[in-house]
Amino acid sequence: MSNEQVIEALNQCGLDADSGLFSRMRTTVSCHGEVEGLIAALQNADGTSSLARLQHAALVSLHWDALLSAWGKSQPAPDWLKRLPAFDGEVLTDGAPLDIAAWDYGKVRHRSPAAVLRPAHAQDVAAAVKFCRAEGIGLSPRGFAHSAGGQMQIHGGLIIDMKSMQRVLELEETHCVVEAGAGWDVVLEAATTIGKTPPIVTDWLKVSVGGALSMGGFGFMSFWRGTQMDHLLELEVVTGEGELVTCSRERNADLFDAVKGTHGKFGIITRAKIPLEPAPERVRLVQACYGNLRAMYRDFDRHTRDQSTDLIHAFAAERSRSSIVTRMNSTEAIAFEEADVDRLLAADSGPWVFNLELVDFIGGPHQGRHGLVDVEALECEPGLVASWEMDWKSFCFRVPPLVLEEQFKGAAPHPELCAWVPMNEEGRALLDAEFSRLHPAEDVGNGPVLFFPLNTAQVGASFFRLPSAEHCLFWGILRRADPPEKERIAQLMADNEAVYGRIRSIGGERYLPDTPPDTAAFWRTHFGEKWDALCAARKRWDPDGIFGSSFGNFT
Ligand SMILES: Cc1cc2nc3c(=O)[nH]c(=O)nc-3n(C[C@H](O)[C@H](O)[C@H](O)COP(=O)(O)OP(=O)(O)OC[C@H]3O[C@@H](n4cnc5c(N)ncnc54)[C@H](O)[C@@H]3O)c2cc1C
Repeated sequence: MSNEQVIEALNQCGLDADSGLFSRMRTTVSCHGEVEGLIAALQNADGTSSLARLQHAALVSLHWDALLSAWGKSQPAPDWLKRLPAFDGEVLTDGAPLDIAAWDYGKVRHRSPAAVLRPAHAQDVAAAVKFCRAEGIGLSPRGFAHSAGGQMQIHGGLIIDMKSMQRVLELEETHCVVEAGAGWDVVLEAATTIGKTPPIVTDWLKVSVGGALSMGGFGFMSFWRGTQMDHLLELEVVTGEGELVTCSRERNADLFDAVKGTHGKFGIITRAKIPLEPAPERVRLVQACYGNLRAMYRDFDRHTRDQSTDLIHAFAAERSRSSIVTRMNSTEAIAFEEADVDRLLAADSGPWVFNLELVDFIGGPHQGRHGLVDVEALECEPGLVASWEMDWKSFCFRVPPLVLEEQFKGAAPHPELCAWVPMNEEGRALLDAEFSRLHPAEDVGNGPVLFFPLNTAQVGASFFRLPSAEHCLFWGILRRADPPEKERIAQLMADNEAVYGRIRSIGGERYLPDTPPDTAAFWRTHFGEKWDALCAARKRWDPDGIFGSSFGNFT
């Protein structure tokens, strides 16, 4: 293929490639393997179905990413590294920290930065932003990198590794102030020492305050309380001009709104003031197992609408003894009767089982919102329901299935789809159809499929896309690519986009820590009628467009 043909074919896949750059790559010896891989992928447009086209585009984008990485590595260290200002924090320009910063939890995309800054404080962050702006260098804040599509990566630029800013600066009865690189574990550890809790807790606490607020941050209680974005007193943000701005509902309210759920593209959150409330003394957990989605969905839906419990989530897994008896977010077994488990294993109702967890607060300010979950009324399989109690902190520090799965099966690529599906008849029918089609091992690599309900009216962030239905559910197909090859990843990514198309057709939206396509078309579609406002906000808060990755590359 000629250079022009390559560029044209890349553009057809939605990728923005420059012909001068590609011709330089083509003549660079250390890029030859990746150039050949890309050209082979471009020539191998196998089939004309929409799924085949999606798969082709995904495969080409993975090869293009690999070529950009190889190209970056072939280049001498950029000159600007010598001009970096003095920081109180640490700057790393080679070795393992750079390799780590090139990856994320998804292990699908890989982009090597030129340097990593571990800032000591917000002034370091501000100095880095000012420097990058003056030099025209792309930068990206990075929390725990638990997103799965390169949202915090940047080719050849500066990564600001916020994990070096983890201090609890203030702990009061009503609130705490933390640096934004702190994980929610740090917030919970601090809050529970005085019997308090933040209102919304993510299912895994090793995600950063800044990263979760930049994505959304939902929890098991989001069906009545919204997201972490909705429970904030104040933020400190470094804008794209390097200004350190304090914002809240009353002060710089437009920036306070803009930075929520927007992937660090309008500013870097350096500090958050989070409200605290008395923690429940204990929680009572009910776990029920279902052989079919419809029965599980009815109980999930009823408890969401009636608000007849405090925390709800569910997950689907391969029909197996361990899926049925294992406590959710745990490795411990429930002592169900063997005969009850065997009956479900022998049932002829497809390859999936569905576990629902309903949790009631005992003690604390929300006790008395409703009675305890009526276990007898659940439509689960006979005998396959259990309840027990634990304290709030132990509950919050449980480990979710994706992390457990990583520990046991090793770190595989996770080309994920996360979406908000309307909780209405169309949404239920869509889930039904998808579960009839998907096989847990063959299509999902035995990664978990998660459900969390959300009340859309509770979510206020302007750029956070949600269905118009009053209730929707987070639906996460947390796939695992085995073998961990580009072809397999592309196949799963293509199926994700096909499912996403069906979800959009019934008014659903995407939750974006997953593995989205890296194209302008995707981001425009995602933001829809908000696109112009988004671009205007970007011009305002990051006038020189230095915050890269996600929609930052396209606005
Ligand atoms: C096991 C697991 C459990 C999860 N559980 C939940 C859950 O319960 N609820 C939920 O909502 N999501 C969850 N997620 C999804 C998601 O990864 C998180 O929403 C969040 O993005 C992770 O925070 P992080 O620190 O890893 O952020 P990263 O993935 O590092 O970054 C996310 C985005 O925010 C930007 N960013 C990072 N720090 C800052 C900052 N200080 N200021 C501005 N921008 C910043 C990055 O550039 C990137 O665009 C989970 C993911 C995994 C793998």
